[in-house]
Amino acid sequence: MLTQHIVEDELQALIAKEGPIPISRFMAMANAAYYSDHDPFGIKGDFITAPEVSQMFGELIGLALADCWKQAGGDAAYVELGPGRGTMAVDAMRSLAMVDLEPLVHFVETSAILRASQAELIPAAIWHDDISSLPTDVPLMIVANEFFDAMPVEQYVKTMMGWRELMVRHDDIDGFATVPGQEACEDRVPDDLRDAHTASVYEQSSTARKLMRDLAKRLAAQGGVLIVIDYGYHDRAAGDTLQAVHAHAYADPFARPGRSDLTAHVDFSALKQAAQSVRGVKVRGPVDQGDWLVAIGIDLRADQLTRANPGRAAELAAARMRLIHPDQMGSLFKVLGASGVGWPVVPGL
Ligand code: SAH
Repeated sequence: MLTQHIVEDELQALIAKEGPIPISRFMAMANAAYYSDHDPFGIKGDFITAPEVSQMFGELIGLALADCWKQAGGDAAYVELGPGRGTMAVDAMRSLAMVDLEPLVHFVETSAILRASQAELIPAAIWHDDISSLPTDVPLMIVANEFFDAMPVEQYVKTMMGWRELMVRHDDIDGFATVPGQEACEDRVPDDLRDAHTASVYEQSSTARKLMRDLAKRLAAQGGVLIVIDYGYHDRAAGDTLQAVHAHAYADPFARPGRSDLTAHVDFSALKQAAQSVRGVKVRGPVDQGDWLVAIGIDLRADQLTRANPGRAAELAAARMRLIHPDQMGSLFKVLGASGVGWPVVPGL
């Protein structure tokens, strides 16, 4: 695994040897390094995610899963993609335990440092480098919060000569910078963008689409449900959404590979299409995170917690607002659900 200290050298050497590389390759290497050797969460880190804002988030996810599982009956395993510190899993397990459900926990996680934090919270978890080694003989309840936004994206730019993939070059004066590739890429761009203006950018993630299709195939074959939560848009992107966040501020995505979190908005229409392409899978959403959390009971949970902890009333009210208000995480974040054979649709979608 590359660390942030050497990924910059590795990327320079790779570009010197092979010429400019696709943005997707740059992003994959930079993010692997970024997550490999530090914990990016929390006040002191680079960003805060919904499970870190409040226990209510993971608890409500757990209740939604419990509801599906009780209706489906039989056995099931909990799978989380990119569990971060493991906070959401712990909160979800608490909800499931309240209705006497105790699934085996599987984590898909590449970062050694985050695996160590997850092991402190859920020592019995089983870790995977990718989804291929997940069990095949049990329905899977799969949750991914802020995972798809870290998947590498490809970008294409309309030039005078037609559509070209955007590549990353390097020199000592400009550092890393993008440049249109040599190859014609008309066939990788949707028909309605063929005649777009020069300098228009089309962005997509073939990694995210393939992952979604592979997960949907698992649901079709084994049963189970999938809940994807991320920030993004219902319809196809308007251009370049690649961004870097370092210490809670936006940074140049190419300036410091491995030192900032590189993400792109998630194209939920592409994910939805990918899941729907698998026969037997029921897909619902995306709906705004705020609407979904209200539909599955955040107000009730906030009231219960406030009654039990009157001293935390203001903190709980602020956390609830942060998760559901349209000006905060409520409408930028979306929720997409998919269900396999014999499993109900995700509640609230
Ligand atoms: N779900 C958590 C963390 C989100 S950050 C939360 O909401 O707080 C992204 C997570 O995905 C981290 O745990 C990171 O290490 C992991 N990750 C990123 N790219 C990955 C990949 N390609 N394979 C597996 N895990 C990955």
